[in-house]
This record gives sequence, structure tokens and C-alpha cells, in this order.
Amino acid sequence: MYNYDFIIVGNSAAGLNAMRTLRHFDKSSSVAVIDRENEPAYSRVLTPYYVGDKIKRDALYIVDKQFYKKNGLDTFFGKELVSIVPEKNKIVLDDGTELNYGKLLLATGGEAKEIKFNNSKNVLKLRHFKDADRMNEMYKKSASVVGFGAGLVTIPLLSHLRKDIEKHLVISSDRIFSRVVDRDASEILEKKFASEGLTIHKKDDLISIEEKLDKLDITLKSGSKLTADMVIVGKGVEPNIQLADEAGIDTHWGIMVDKHCRTNVGNIFAAGDVAECNDFFGEGTVIQGNWLTAAEQGDLAARNMLGYDVRYEGSLKNNTTEVFGTEVAVVGYFGDDVKSEIFYDEKRGFFRKIFLDDSDTIIGATMIGETNDAGIYYGLVKRRAKLNNFNFKGFMNHAKILKNMDYC
Ligand SMILES: Cc1cc2nc3c(=O)[nH]c(=O)nc-3n(C[C@H](O)[C@H](O)[C@H](O)COP(=O)(O)OP(=O)(O)OC[C@H]3O[C@@H](n4cnc5c(N)ncnc54)[C@H](O)[C@@H]3O)c2cc1C
Repeated sequence: MYNYDFIIVGNSAAGLNAMRTLRHFDKSSSVAVIDRENEPAYSRVLTPYYVGDKIKRDALYIVDKQFYKKNGLDTFFGKELVSIVPEKNKIVLDDGTELNYGKLLLATGGEAKEIKFNNSKNVLKLRHFKDADRMNEMYKKSASVVGFGAGLVTIPLLSHLRKDIEKHLVISSDRIFSRVVDRDASEILEKKFASEGLTIHKKDDLISIEEKLDKLDITLKSGSKLTADMVIVGKGVEPNIQLADEAGIDTHWGIMVDKHCRTNVGNIFAAGDVAECNDFFGEGTVIQGNWLTAAEQGDLAARNMLGYDVRYEGSLKNNTTEVFGTEVAVVGYFGDDVKSEIFYDEKRGFFRKIFLDDSDTIIGATMIGETNDAGIYYGLVKRRAKLNNFNFKGFMNHAKILKNMDYC
């Protein structure tokens, strides 16, 4: 039996930031890190680049193998957590190892949703390194790829594949990125992607996939037929809540946490894609499913595990990606039901849309083209800054926005 002051399960955005924060404030406590993947922490965000051979496998790593030893962190990599026993402050791994904790952080993220057509070896989803390796291998042999799902996995994946590959995207909604950007931005991006060779099948779905020799014959709900070497599926993420649930920890979509990232069990915390926490705008609870939120929550959970009293002001949408050569960034709220101001320079492919509430507080921004200012907009939304003299005419650049902000 091992005994640790802190145990972190999950060696990714949330877990890694928790480790860094624990060690920043406290060099002497005993810390164990568990992950069923036997890899140093890596960026899932960059895996589509690796699949398309745009970056090398090694470029995905965020830390090297020595990081853990150097920071006095005991690792149990390649081992899976199979049971949590809160009454005994104990967890059990798949090889029977038992570990006692003072405080436990569940940073176990989620899995790509299964689809019922995954019986073929050429129908793939992407979440882990092993998925990326498999896709990268298949990609090298592919001349045509069909993607399902209109979000931040399928579209970046298609966009980083070789130009000569025939690419189709099948989406059930009437626009791409419907959960990521507003309708105006979707329209701009659809045009751009079509010009880069992507064929989009809207309001459609998969009916069947048949393997014919090395090819896949795909039938869609609309009756359209497609042929592909590889099918990639990005239909959302399922948080890994099962073990928490079995242990009597409150769950809903995710593991329910309070503003301290603490669960209903006092010495168990959760952070990242597995944790359901308060929304920044006070609209209930949410799982943002992005890297920055997971990192923020990992840091905050660790501070509270150390005994500080730090409260989360709520998570905020924050996505930055590059698709078909175009940068896209979104922070905070987007929607057709609030005031907004748009600037669009079609020639330059430069788009800005700022969303405001009734008192002209900036609540969100969407950027296409150049996205260097995404972090600044994130800060403005977080500070609930107001936009004064809201009467922009013509070019609404970043300096102009900042000049008109009321920071009080
Ligand atoms: C292809 C792709 C592209 C993405 N693009 C973007 C993007 O552009 N921008 C953005 O902000 N976000 C993006 N994301 C989302 C982002 O990667 C996640 O929000 C982030 O990784 C969440 O971090 P996390 O630490 O909460 O969980 P995860 O990264 O899911 O890590 C959880 C870890 O826990 C481990 N684990 C789970 N259960 C167990 C168990 N029982 N025992 C042991 N170990 C376990 C897993 O092996 C995993 O390593 C993308 C994700 C993918 C897959």
C-alpha cells in the first residue's frame, strides 16, 4: 500500500497544471500521478497536425520524461484507475495496486463518443496518442477521407490532410461549427473551406458503411453515396465519470464541482473535461471542453487542495484553431439574440464580431483571419469591461476597441 498527500489521476491539461501548481507552492509533499497512457504529457490540440504529417510525433510533447522525477512526482503511467473508495481514502489500479490519498484530483477528461459504425478498422476517432498514430498510418495510404461532425476535431483533421486528398464533411446541422461560432462566421468559413476543396453535406447523416476490398462505401440519409479510404468521426466527447459515479461522487454530464473545484466528497476534487462547474455568465453548470479551461481548473483545484481559498469565477468558451489555412478564435458568448458589431474585410479574409449585453459589457468575440488579439478579448470578457461610445463606423481594430473600453 502506498500513501500520498496528493494523488492526481490524469496527466493532461488539468492534471499537468495541478502538478505545476502543487510544486510551485509546496516542494515537500508526496504526489503521485496516474495515467493509463504511458506517455509524458502531450498536446491533444496538436494531434490533427501530426495526423496530417505537418508536425513530427515528438513535437506533441509538452514535458519530457524527466519532468516528473525532477519535480518529485511518482508516476504510475500505463496503469488504469479502476476503483475509488472514498470511505478509506483509497484508489485501486488495474494491476491491483492500492494507493491512499490525503486529497485526490480527478482530471480524467473524456473519450470521443462511440458511433455504431465502428466495426471497420478504417472508421476512426481521435482522442489519444494511439488514435493519432493509427490515423497517421492510415492517412498515408488514403486518397479520399469522409469526416462526420461539424466541430473542433473533424474539421481541423480534414484541414491538415494533404491537398490532393478528396475530402467530404457530413454534418447534421445546417452550418459548420454551429457550437463554436455564430452564423455569419460559419458562412465565411464554409466559403473558404469549399475553395480549399472541402465538400460539405449539410443536414445529413450516416446510414451505413460497407467495406469493399480496401474501400468504404458510405450511404447517407439523403441517399447520397460516397467512397472513402478512411472515415473520421468527431461527434463529441463523453466525460469519464463512471468511476466517480460508482464511488458515490455527484455526477450529471460531468463530475459536479463547486467553485473550489471540489466534489461533494470533501477531499476529492475534479478539473478539466471531466468536471462540470459554474458558467462564467451564471447560466448554470457547463463543461467547456477546451484546453485553457482545463488548465485553469487544474491550477485552481491544486491551490484549494493546498488549503488556499480560491474561487472559480466560471468557465468561458475559448477556442483558437487554424483550419484550411485560416485562423479562427472564439471567446465567450456568441449568438443571434444579443447586440453585436461586425467588421468584415472580405478581401483580406479579416472578420471581427463583438457581442455585447444590454449595458454594453463585452461578452464575447469571434475572430477570423488574424487572431493574435484573442487573449486580449478573453481578458476583456473576464474583466466584464464595458465598451463606451458604442458607435463604430468602419474598421474596428483592436486598438480602437481598447481605446473605447471602460475598465472600472
Ligand atoms: C483532436 C482534438 C483537437 C482539439 N482541439 C482543441 C483546440 O483547438 N482548442 C482547445 O482549447 N481544445 C481542443 N481540444 C480539447 C482539449 O484537448 C481538451 O479540452 C483537454 O485535453 C482537456 O484536458 P483534461 O486534462 O481535462 O483531459 P484529457 O486531455 O482528456 O486527459 C485526461 C487523461 O486522463 C487519463 N485517464 C482517464 N481515465 C483514466 C483512468 N481511469 N485511469 C488512468 N488514467 C485515466 C487519460 O488517459 C488522459 O490522459 C481538442 C481535443 C482533441 C481530441
